[in-house]
Amino acid sequence: MVVTGERRLEIVAGLEAARRRISAAESAAGREPGGVELVVVTKTHPADEVAVLADLGVQHVGENRDQEASAKAEQLAGRSLVWHFIGQLQSNKVRSVVRYADVVESVDRPKLVAALSKAALSVRPDHPVRCLVQVCLDDQPGRGGALPDDVPAMADQIAAAPGLELDGVMAVAPLGADPDEAFARLRVVAETVGAAHPGATTVSAGMSGDLEAAVRHGATQVRLGSVVLGYRPPFG
Ligand SMILES: *Cc1c(COP(=O)(O)O)cnc(C)c1O
Repeated sequence: MVVTGERRLEIVAGLEAARRRISAAESAAGREPGGVELVVVTKTHPADEVAVLADLGVQHVGENRDQEASAKAEQLAGRSLVWHFIGQLQSNKVRSVVRYADVVESVDRPKLVAALSKAALSVRPDHPVRCLVQVCLDDQPGRGGALPDDVPAMADQIAAAPGLELDGVMAVAPLGADPDEAFARLRVVAETVGAAHPGATTVSAGMSGDLEAAVRHGATQVRLGSVVLGYRPPFG
């Protein structure tokens, strides 16, 4: 699918809007400019639009479905993009995901750590897979994420796992919850993990609707989809 000139301009404007909101949020929070990294969430959007983003200087892209992500990553293999896997991950998809994902943000159970470690060692022994522990902020782990009490042990497990590198934590604010409360809770968990693992400094939090709250509470990375790329058809 070719990206029309009009669509290209929309993407340029969306990216500018996202970057402006991030810098405004940094400055409102009294944080250093440029301290928050942008991951553009490209799920459901075609690889040609990801190529446009890459042309515009985007480095980090996020995807949540293996089948879609692996196809796009293959199509864009010549680009220097950093692929973040941000979706719920089944153990049987792990071998595929570690072929293209530089960062897996949704690590939320011990079995998955073991599977990722084994796959990383076999598929890419020289390049560790960077992992974030996904933290569940509403005590309903069914929707992804480890309960805050279980996070430190999982962080230890990742840090000790060959083929993996512990980068930090990730969370999605629960639907309908106060994002400030949710991200304040995440910050406590992130500090606990960071105290035990000084290299694990990434706090991935904040989406199009709540990035300002996330930046107020210490996010080092935001994952933005709709603000950059616009309407996203719901999954069938
Ligand atoms: C889709 C998605 C996003 C981006 O959401 P927007 O509201 O479009 O910015 C961020 N994080 C995760 C985990 C997602 O699934």
